[in-house]
Amino acid sequence: MMPAAVLAPGATIGILGGGQLGRMTALAAARLGFRCHVFATETDSPAEQICGRATVAEYGDCEALDRFAAAIDVATFEFENIPAEAVLRVAASKPVLPRPEILEITQDRLREKDFLRAIEIPTTAYREISDATALARAMHDFGYPAVLKSVRMGYDGKGQVTLTPEIKPGEAWRQMGGEIGILEAFVDFACEISVIVARGRNAAWATYPPVENQHSNHILDTTIAPARIAVETAMRAEAIARHVAEKLDLVGVLAVEMFVTPSGEVLVNELAPRPHNSGHWTIDACVTSQFEQLVRALCGLPLGSVEHHSDAVMKNLLGNDVEKWREALADPLAKLHLYGKHEIQPGRKMGHVTRLVPRR
Ligand code: AMP
Repeated sequence: MMPAAVLAPGATIGILGGGQLGRMTALAAARLGFRCHVFATETDSPAEQICGRATVAEYGDCEALDRFAAAIDVATFEFENIPAEAVLRVAASKPVLPRPEILEITQDRLREKDFLRAIEIPTTAYREISDATALARAMHDFGYPAVLKSVRMGYDGKGQVTLTPEIKPGEAWRQMGGEIGILEAFVDFACEISVIVARGRNAAWATYPPVENQHSNHILDTTIAPARIAVETAMRAEAIARHVAEKLDLVGVLAVEMFVTPSGEVLVNELAPRPHNSGHWTIDACVTSQFEQLVRALCGLPLGSVEHHSDAVMKNLLGNDVEKWREALADPLAKLHLYGKHEIQPGRKMGHVTRLVPRR
């Protein structure tokens, strides 16, 4: 269901998911005078703390989803692993943006890569793997190292195994833990980058400059904005992101994660049809943040400028790093963001710090 008209301030945006992306979307919405209502599986979620309105239930609870849909004017989702059935249930009575089919494509690594191939976007070589025997056979073609990923429910390196000659295919298959796998040729990349593209209801679009992402244990650790890459590489990356957004018929925000090879080739690794961790720098360094762009797109408002007044380095506060909040505040050019999560767990995203380098 597409929204009929522009939503004016005072309307309510429904957010499926209660994490930090929902929290920062709700903060941007509040600034523009919109209300948010969260659907989350836990009370006092980071997003609920901001909007104060939540439906707390499991994603399979149809009655709760209907109550949520009745309370909102438009809905979005803040992480990929929300069951598609839940999103479709809400979409039956209220507009959901980005459209649910985009979520279905990006929830499935195989569908995602097939989609990219169909629209002629370069990716690393890949193959569907259905069991350990098929994996052993495929390794003859792929060679070592290679990366086996579960097709579904993968993020931050979960369900992912790097294959080396020391790991037997049966053991790798067990470690991956999914029902269907995708085997990918290992990319010996020079750097990882991402581009965030926003697209409005009137097909207006805006892309932020590519940023450079450094991971630790498969989890994003640092984003350097803008990426230290050649101008032609940056232009290619932006063109790819825009092409993907257009072919998906996106309304909202999409992150395109890419590898840059030593020869300057750009290969797409993953798509995320929502605000992205590598776009958090835009809150403090750009005229319009990725979260505000999402709110504008959802409500049928014009997109804002993606101009950046500062370069930035964003560092995630993972697990116990959150205890460094005092240090962050002592640096006048650092902007601290904490997500209101009560329980510290190793690797859990508790907050982030963006250090600004004003452009003169
Ligand atoms: P993903 O869950 O696909 O985003 O993967 C998480 C991280 O694992 C990526 O950001 C890369 O650092 C690494 N990775 C994933 N796939 C590959 C690949 N085919 N080759 C090399 N590194 C990879």
